Amino acid sequence: MKSKWRLPLIIVLVAVGLGGTLVYFRSPPPVNLLLITLDTTRADRLGCYGYTQALTPELDALAKNGVLFERAYAPAPMTSPSHTSIMTGLWPPEHGVNTNALTVLDPSIPTIAELLQARGYATAAFPAASMLAARFGLNRGFQTYFDDLSDPKTGADRMQRSRDGRYIADLSIQWLKEQQQADDAPFFCWLHFYDPHDPYNFHPQEFDAKFRERPYDAELAYVDRQIGRIMDELEQLGELKNTVIVIAGDHGESLGEHGEDMHGYLLHESTLRVPLIIANHAQAKAGHRVATPVSLIDLFPTLLEIGGVEPPGDSKLRRLQPALQGNPLAPRFCYSQTVEPYLQAFWSPLQSLTNERWRYVRTTQPELYDLTADPQELVNLASTEPDLVSELDGELTAYEEKFQIRTGTQVKLSTQEQRVLESLGYAGGSSAKEDPRDASDRPDAKDMIGYLNQFNRAVHLIDDRNFDEAAILLEPLARDVPNFHRARLNLAQCRIYQKKYADAILWCKAALEIDPDSARGYEMMGYSQLKLRELEPAEKNFLRLIELQPDSENGHLYLAEVYQRQEKFPLAMQHYENVLRINPRNAAASGVLDALRAALGSP
Ligand SMILES: [Zn+2]
Repeated sequence: MKSKWRLPLIIVLVAVGLGGTLVYFRSPPPVNLLLITLDTTRADRLGCYGYTQALTPELDALAKNGVLFERAYAPAPMTSPSHTSIMTGLWPPEHGVNTNALTVLDPSIPTIAELLQARGYATAAFPAASMLAARFGLNRGFQTYFDDLSDPKTGADRMQRSRDGRYIADLSIQWLKEQQQADDAPFFCWLHFYDPHDPYNFHPQEFDAKFRERPYDAELAYVDRQIGRIMDELEQLGELKNTVIVIAGDHGESLGEHGEDMHGYLLHESTLRVPLIIANHAQAKAGHRVATPVSLIDLFPTLLEIGGVEPPGDSKLRRLQPALQGNPLAPRFCYSQTVEPYLQAFWSPLQSLTNERWRYVRTTQPELYDLTADPQELVNLASTEPDLVSELDGELTAYEEKFQIRTGTQVKLSTQEQRVLESLGYAGGSSAKEDPRDASDRPDAKDMIGYLNQFNRAVHLIDDRNFDEAAILLEPLARDVPNFHRARLNLAQCRIYQKKYADAILWCKAALEIDPDSARGYEMMGYSQLKLRELEPAEKNFLRLIELQPDSENGHLYLAEVYQRQEKFPLAMQHYENVLRINPRNAAASGVLDALRAALGSP
């Protein structure tokens, strides 16, 4: 990573096969680039953003020595869309990753890692949560993409949903050491800390009882300590001076504000305003604070320029470099959106525009806040300022019309993977196909937020395998709240664990009335019917499931079981073979298949 690495001081043209030609600058001395994303981190809960109860000395020191952006906004209050925007410089409708763990990033869209790797950077990423796994496409350009979330000591629980920040630090420190030994190239390393995401742990082993009443702050303090360990390591390796450090939150956390417990359903400062710090940049004016609103998508051209790569041409890209020296930035259109209310129950999705003074949120009942006079967004001015609302709505519409919309291809998830994501409360796997923008008369997420919170509490109980209590919370949502198909599906899931199969079938039917393409609905209904020996309807539902998801491991497995019980052995064998094609390690399928072959005398 040091002196041996040289780029010729000539202009090199590189066709990257991504629809664009990149021109390399006359190269500045190569620097390392360390991007640290902090999941679920509100800017206003860090010391450097003025929170006096914080214990974030490392982040505060980086801000003191670097440049802090007072108003950095996430393009979505969700992990996958926001990270994808950082890595591509595109708004969520443009990169097509609108929610967690549903779609794969379009391979024709260039990422920071690909462009830096082509420039000669050694690249590595340490994502800490399942929705950033390689299969969703952000691994492109990373030579090392460490998305195995199992416990590195015991190897246990490969399906763990997230990884403790201590391990992210351990693994990245190990990589930094090995990298220094092995390679002279500069590095681009991305670390992701998921700890501040719920459920919050007050980390008594680190802080005793200091944070017992403030576990969210404990998670931030815990992550700060891990960042400190990485800074110490860079110092010891002699790399700190030559490493630009970029700290960014992916979205915030409502912590009860505006009625929202966590994040994902509403668009406010609490979930959109995130920390953004750039430290150790040669041009950075130490301690400078930038007041202009910026978006996380601005990181794409900014990081590429640090790496000496000309960003692919696009007029909307804006580098943050001028601000590092205290120069003004051009005003930025800060777009944000969420489709979660739509994915949960076909309720209105939200889009927002944030400028120097205003936040406008487009939804069934629009919102307008004067962020200068009312930074907590307590007074919705939409009804008193109708002209301003229509002006901002026009601006938002005009901006959206320039989007090159992509839908992304649906990722194939095993049933187990899907359950893991559902256990996080996300809508992964929903089959909603309509354009969510056509939403003028849908229920407004503001009115439904209490139900969404209750749904998330039930999801946590399911995660703890407390199906009885989860069902108590879900039943009124499933029965009384219009269109809440995921509440109905989750209630069906509880009924299956409670062995109340007839009731599970009723709730699956109720969910499929709202979302007739729900693979999960057909799977659970077929499973319940199989348990009740209703083989013909079970067969019908499993056939529908594999029509929707041809690689559904469970779909083929259960269908094979139906045929076995009906003594249609050749069909049963065919579907067991399908299971093994999808997952060669499925022991149940290979055991039965061997037995059937032996019994029927086939090879
Ligand atoms: Zn996140």
